Amino acid sequence: MEKTLLKVNRERLLETIKISSSIGSSAHGGLHRLALSEADKNMRDIFVDWLKAEGLAVRIDDFGNIYGRRKGKKDNGPSVAIGSHLDTQPCGGKYDGILGVLTALEVIRVLNENDIETEYPVEIINFTNEEGARFAPPMLGSGGITGNFTKDFIYHIKDDEGISFEQALKDIGYMGDSENRLKNIKNFIELHIEQGPILHEQEKTIGVVQGIQGNDWYTVKVAGKTNHAGPTPMENRQDALVAASKMIVKVNEIANDIKGLKTTVGKMDVTPNVTNVIPGEVVFTIDIRHEDNELRSHAFERLKEQLSAIALISKVELTITTDWNSETTLFAPVVKDAVKEAVTELGYSSMELFSGPGHDAKYMAEVADTGMIFVPSVDGISHNEQELTLDDDIEKGANVLLYVVQKLAGTKK
Ligand SMILES: [Zn+2]
Repeated sequence: MEKTLLKVNRERLLETIKISSSIGSSAHGGLHRLALSEADKNMRDIFVDWLKAEGLAVRIDDFGNIYGRRKGKKDNGPSVAIGSHLDTQPCGGKYDGILGVLTALEVIRVLNENDIETEYPVEIINFTNEEGARFAPPMLGSGGITGNFTKDFIYHIKDDEGISFEQALKDIGYMGDSENRLKNIKNFIELHIEQGPILHEQEKTIGVVQGIQGNDWYTVKVAGKTNHAGPTPMENRQDALVAASKMIVKVNEIANDIKGLKTTVGKMDVTPNVTNVIPGEVVFTIDIRHEDNELRSHAFERLKEQLSAIALISKVELTITTDWNSETTLFAPVVKDAVKEAVTELGYSSMELFSGPGHDAKYMAEVADTGMIFVPSVDGISHNEQELTLDDDIEKGANVLLYVVQKLAGTKK
């Protein structure tokens, strides 16, 4: 490391973000830039121009992921990759993953104008369809190159209008070659907004992300007996909705006993859903999150016992099916340490935390030593036009990324 600390060009970075904010802008100050849409294409075109202007070798792979590679001294060696995604939710925010891509670009610009030669190459990435808003599930670009989804699966996913991922990719002119996929990388670093309220509430500037919380989804089916609301005495009922309601309270209350546990019932269907009929069947979902895999499954086992007891007393049948289990991702110490060192050297406030949502870094952690840098979301608002990260925090986050890249890619002595 050089003694004097390099810093990003705040005005240039904010101007770059301003240009991005004008592509696909929505009515109330946000962005509506769905993956592989016309707006996404326009953003990609400008982004590619920016990469080329910095002298980077640009590649597009068969998932439409965009890479710009900056040579290192050991050009055959593994690269340090930085980036995130430029797509947004419908009427989403201007910051989200966009900051991760545009701060990465600013890092490249600073390295270039200071003639910094790194030991290892640095690659900037824009991943396709991180949001999963147009093509579900999310994180298809990073999931594709890491083998979490097959090409066939991804290509056949259709949007609401029946347009396939493959077709949309061709339509906007970003169908690249599988040869161009990212390979041989040593690190991946993703800067992202927190999307939660913790940094803002704790008045910290930088989140040293420890990993991504594990997340399990279940479907609970409660079967009782449909009957007429008038003649059926209360003691004779097998009311699925009353039983389900007691269960949902338990789902909520278990989080009081286990620190950091988050439980959500976000969806419920009542059958027949008629005013004068006792509900015969209720189906609801449970979302459980905690960074400790063992604690999370232990919580679920306890919950299962409690729900079974309610089912027995309420004379209803209970069926629980697992929809999705995602283990906690732990980020690499080498990246977490570099972020901590950067924060200390730059004199910024920081705290360690886990990410609630998933990110491209989750898949990238399977193939490289990976980490994330969080910057605060004002009031924790995200996936919303009101999403806001302050200019000072953006600048500081970018400085941390710049430091971490120099540290991990190795600057010339
Ligand atoms: Zn994101």
